[in-house]
Amino acid sequence: MAGLMGSFNRRLDYVRISVTDRCNYRCRYCMPEEGVDWLEHDRILTYEDLLVLSRVLHEMGVRKIRITGGEPTVRKGLTGFLRRLHEEIPTLHVALTTNGSLLLSMAEELSSIPLAGLNVSLDSMDAEKFRFLTRCGSLDVVLQGILAFRERSRVPLKINTVLMRGFNDAEIPDLLNFAGSCGAVLRLIEFMPLDDSVWSRDRFISADEILESLPDRGKWIPESTARRSPNHGIPEGPARYLVHAETGQRLGIIAAVGHHFCETCNRLRITATGELRSCLFSPEGVSLREALRAKDLETVRGLIVAEAGRKPKCWKDASVSSRHMSQIGG
Ligand code: SAM
Ligand code: SF4
Repeated sequence: MAGLMGSFNRRLDYVRISVTDRCNYRCRYCMPEEGVDWLEHDRILTYEDLLVLSRVLHEMGVRKIRITGGEPTVRKGLTGFLRRLHEEIPTLHVALTTNGSLLLSMAEELSSIPLAGLNVSLDSMDAEKFRFLTRCGSLDVVLQGILAFRERSRVPLKINTVLMRGFNDAEIPDLLNFAGSCGAVLRLIEFMPLDDSVWSRDRFISADEILESLPDRGKWIPESTARRSPNHGIPEGPARYLVHAETGQRLGIIAAVGHHFCETCNRLRITATGELRSCLFSPEGVSLREALRAKDLETVRGLIVAEAGRKPKCWKDASVSSRHMSQIGG
């Protein structure tokens, strides 16, 4: 399989695809209360478009696709689409990111699809804070959904928490306990300063500070490179992993802002409308939709190669996007 190379000699083998810009939550750091102007239906790539695109990407060297949003589970037919992706492109690793709100009702069906991983965003173990942050979510429903999925599936599970000063930074022990109890890996993520972020910048906590504030600080040991990447040999992205010397629990820290992982960045992003972006922070990308719909796959491939070549050396070189995270795919 040929590899897809981006600028600065980076191999691009991981693509995040947003299947919808819509969401049933309004997380304060992601969206305004009234939501954003939802895209009209005909601007969104159909599942057929997405299947064709996924096959093209895989043939070009992409090994892993993460389905995200908005909230991917609010799009009708998602599990059918995931099943078809697996059946039609069995060598492609397909993972899903969700806010977990619909996991309880989907656990049965979702667990029957051989996903490469499931990531659930969970920013608080306190029901009131959880509702405050999401503006409408129920912590209990999300926890039940995670447990229901875990009972039925051994798929690698990650809990992603955006850490915010004075809000949830005292909750690391509770989050670690919950993740440990359901065999999930907790990942603590730096809050990212997108232009339209609607959550105060003062909440930012750097990865170094997160490290300092870990319970049992001295017992978390950096995971050796030998044990890294248990996920089919595909690099796990920007997370640095630590292992607890006594319990063996694994913990990830994602320094999206403070540290540079750009030089090893292996990802591309596709928005719900079919815009390919080589960097989360790029203000614009290139639309694949027309060529996809015309079944002009030569053009689709050419556009992908060209955008890969435009990948900025570092996110700081990209003039920051003015769109919300839900519209780009997180
Ligand atoms: N709705 C799904 C969810 O919340 O998991 C998938 C889409 S969401 C945009 C993907 C991820 O982006 C979530 O884990 C969310 O916490 C994260 N996110 C959104 N805005 C962010 C920000 N300003 N800084 C850091 N992470 C952010
Ligand atoms: Fe929705 Fe995810 Fe954004 Fe929260 S972070 S508003 S769940 S898209």
